[in-house]
Amino acid sequence: MAGELILIVEDNERNRKLVRDVLQFKGYRTIEVETGEESLRLARDRRPNLILMDIRLPGINGIEALKRLRADPATRAIPVMAMTASIMTAGPEEMRAAGFDGYQSKPLQVKAFVAAVEELLEKGQGTRRTTT
Ligand code: MN
Repeated sequence: MAGELILIVEDNERNRKLVRDVLQFKGYRTIEVETGEESLRLARDRRPNLILMDIRLPGINGIEALKRLRADPATRAIPVMAMTASIMTAGPEEMRAAGFDGYQSKPLQVKAFVAAVEELLEKGQGTRRTTT
């Protein structure tokens, strides 16, 4: 199903363009912000179907932004996928422990990235596994 709204949170212009181009080619609608703080506001206003979250951001980082999204009833059910540079020590386990619904390392592998996006959108809002 195409047409879902995806919020891209990424401060790097090139990465943002790559993600935007791939998603729009696949028929998704995208909105973009460069900081975690802005992502909170836009997530509340637009209620995207999925959020793609860079970790290293100016201001609050992606993990803190995720915490705040989860703390807000208006945004807590939105699936959030982390996008981290592979050079970082944090891998899939750390990202899942932090509460992310998915994880992709940068540089993004386009096929795997698209598959991960589709999977999270299929799971959809409200069916996110609650962590105990
Ligand atoms: Mn970054």
